[in-house]
Amino acid sequence: MTDGPRYRLILFGPPGVGKGTQARLLQQRLGICSIATGDLLRDEVARKTDLGLQAARFMEAGSLVPDEVVIGMVKGRIRAQGGCGAGFILDGFPRTVAQAEALRAADIGIDLVVYLRVSEEAIIRRLTGRKICPSCGRVFHVEYAPPADGAHCDSCSAALITREDDQEATVRARLRVYEEKTAPLVRYYREQGLLATVDGMQEPEHVLQDILTVLRQTRTES
Ligand SMILES: [Zn+2]
Repeated sequence: MTDGPRYRLILFGPPGVGKGTQARLLQQRLGICSIATGDLLRDEVARKTDLGLQAARFMEAGSLVPDEVVIGMVKGRIRAQGGCGAGFILDGFPRTVAQAEALRAADIGIDLVVYLRVSEEAIIRRLTGRKICPSCGRVFHVEYAPPADGAHCDSCSAALITREDDQEATVRARLRVYEEKTAPLVRYYREQGLLATVDGMQEPEHVLQDILTVLRQTRTES
């Protein structure tokens, strides 16, 4: 491994697997920066940077922001002062093989791609158990954080509801779309020997330990 950032990671995983949590834990543990491209894009647009203004033009026209613009933002973030000296973790990008190739062409090297895998049934149990309070927004879960009386908000007593997004059919459809879209990318990184699969349904601290273990292995092998 050459000079430059010490940890360069990509985190994949279906919606609901806790990528955001892992990105935050890795950031704390390794002192690396977490780059969620959705947030980065919104931030650059809000600050009206050159790339933000370019992106805004596409968004206003209702079209996708081109990969070069997003990659330009990622590159800027990695090089920003006091930013990602120790490394970075990308969340939300790349989503396609073309984007992965574009990253490589832009000289953004990757050391490890972590795929947080979940069983469909387990993630459905996790997501469909979520109940929210329509009045104050508080979130409950029938298994992990149940309301005291099982049906009403502990804070304001409103009857809890299941969001449309958390209905079983919606969750299944979303998972399928995710898997179909991600499969080529998973294959792409596996062929390069960069992919590590981690069981994403464990407690967050255990998931983190598994990620740190594969990271150590990667670093001793290279
Ligand atoms: Zn409430």
